[in-house]
Order: sequence, then C-alpha cells, then structure tokens
Amino acid sequence: MSTRSLILDYLKKNAGQTSVSGKILAGRFSVTRAAIHKQIRGLRQAGYSIVGKSRCGYRFEASENILDVRQIRSALSAERFYGHLEYHPVLSSTQDVAKDRAFHGEPEGTVVIAERQTSGRGRLGRRWISSPGGLWFSIILRPALSPRSIPSLPLVAALVLCRTIEEVVSLKAGLKWPNDVWIRGKKVAGILAEMSSESDRVQWVVLGLGLNCLNSVPSDVISPAGSLADLTGSRSVPRQEILTKFLGEFRKAYQRYLMEGFAAFRADYRRRSVLIGRDVTVNTSTGKRRGRVVDVDGEGRLVLRLSPGRNIVLSEGDVVPGSLRQEGRGRDGD
Ligand code: ATP
Repeated sequence: MSTRSLILDYLKKNAGQTSVSGKILAGRFSVTRAAIHKQIRGLRQAGYSIVGKSRCGYRFEASENILDVRQIRSALSAERFYGHLEYHPVLSSTQDVAKDRAFHGEPEGTVVIAERQTSGRGRLGRRWISSPGGLWFSIILRPALSPRSIPSLPLVAALVLCRTIEEVVSLKAGLKWPNDVWIRGKKVAGILAEMSSESDRVQWVVLGLGLNCLNSVPSDVISPAGSLADLTGSRSVPRQEILTKFLGEFRKAYQRYLMEGFAAFRADYRRRSVLIGRDVTVNTSTGKRRGRVVDVDGEGRLVLRLSPGRNIVLSEGDVVPGSLRQEGRGRDGD
C-alpha cells in the first residue's frame, strides 16, 4: 500500500476525533513533515476532504461527495467485467487515455476516471467542460458486433444513466436524441462513443460519459446546462454511488445489448425521449431537415415526419428543438 493510502486509512480511522498532527503522521510513517504535507495535498486533489489547522494537525471529514476508487473496486469486485479501474486527479481527457489503452490492448471493462479534464471532448470535437466535482469517465468495450450496430450503443448508456440518476437522486431524467440526458430542461450529461474497426469487426469502442454533479457548469453553451447539485438543491451528491450503480447496471445492459440489440431498450428510450412529438430542425452532414420527431426506431435512429405521410430516418445529426418537453414522452408515434 502506498504511503498516501496508509495516511488516508489512518486519518479515516481517526475521523470525527481530534486532529492528528503532521509530526505524529511523519513519525508513524517514517517520512518528513514536508512529505506528509505533500501527500495530504495529493489526497485533497483526489477529492478527499481533509481539514488542516496549524498547530492542530489534520482531520479527515467523511464525505459522500468523494470518489474512493478502492471502494468502487471492491463494490464491483463481483463484476469481473471491470478488471481495471484507474483514477486520475486530472487528465487531458479520459477518452484519449482510454483510447490509447484500448489501442495498446487493454481489455474490455477498463475504466478511466478523472476528477477534472483539461481537454474534455464532446461529439464532433466539441469542448466538454469538466471541472472538479463531476463524473468524467470512459469505458473500453470490445463488442463482437458489426460496426454498423454500434451507433445505438451510446443510447443504451444514456438510458442506463437516466435510470441510475432516478434511482440514486430521485430526479426524473429524460433523453435528447441521441445520447444527452436532460432534467427539467437542462442538459446534465453527455456521452461520446468512438470506435476502431477492421472490415466488419469492431476492435474497440470507447464510451465517454460526462455527468454534471457538484461541478460548476458552463453558461456559454447552446443547450442550458444543469448539475445534479443545482437540480436537487443539495451540495451532497453521492457521486460514488452513482458511478458504482451505473457501472453495475451498464454491464448488465451491455450484455443484453450484445444479444438483443437496441430493440430491447427501445420502449424505455422512447418513453424518456424529450423529442418525440416535437417540431425540430436536424443539422445533418448532408444538410438541414425540418419536421416532427415521431419515433426512435429499433436501431436507435430518429424518425422525422417531414410532411404528412413522408417520414425519414436519420442516423446522425444535431437536433435543435423548438422547445423541449421537461422529461419523458407522451405521444406515441404521434
Ligand atoms: P447539444 O445537444 O447540447 O448541442 P451535442 O450532443 O451536440 O450537444 P455533446 O457532445 O453532448 O454535443 O457536448 C458538447 C456540447 O455540450 C458543447 O458544445 C457545449 O455546448 C456543451 N457542454 C460542454 N460542457 C458541458 C457541460 N459540462 N455540461 C453541459 N453541457 C456542456
């Protein structure tokens, strides 16, 4: 165990009691006080709340806001799927690191988590603002599927994220096609899927997820952004529980997806769609399309009614809605 983990364990054991001085810690772990100070700084950067007062020492404050990777690992230990979980206080982009790991042969189920990203990315190379307090992570997958079926995979991830948010923080979450999570008219999460394939075989897919929890959200964005802290009105967002639950549920959903495809998730996805029944403009790579969203099909594509009796099916595009419903859908195939 590293000195940092030993210090953390020691402070945790003494949590709630009087502070432990730097001198005592230094003596106990046979390092200098400066080294203790450095380790405490590292722990704070990793999200641990350690109160320090001069002449009093350090005290660990239990907080449900922190991410403790050892706890996440042990919660997922029954899920052999997640064999390698890494946590970084700061990364350029979890997606870039996970892609690099995938390229170098890391197995399916590898998860890369960062407390903060300096160059987080969204779809089409857009910037994803990832200040500390959010959940920013990427998962390596190696589905034995044709590359053609992969575009619906991030829709499944978005659906599982909705269900997880509802379960953990009791907020009703909706989906904006293809894979944004919306709550009360605010975008709280975005998902990005990137893939490498060879002829008709997927080599890897890296799914990147960004969920605004306790972080400050950007205001200069097209769709208004929200965080779980803002929306619940509480500074206590159980990020670790959300992440652990999501990973557990996503593993199950992924296995089902491999067998049954998006069709198995379609009904719930449609129910949560904030777009079905809305008039929208879709900016696609081949031009603008205006119409009413009438459905999301069995392959996760958007069905747009251009005029009565004239539907088109879109597999990519940016949807700009007239005005979004709060969450969930109402009209069936309208
Ligand atoms: P949208 O549907 O909002 O236009 P998108 O689905 O096309 O977004 P994404 O890949 O999900 O694109 O996210 C990138 C966009 O999300 C950015 O262009 C920016 O407008 C917005 N954004 C960036 N950071 C955040 C954040 N932390 N929370 C919410 N929105 C963000």
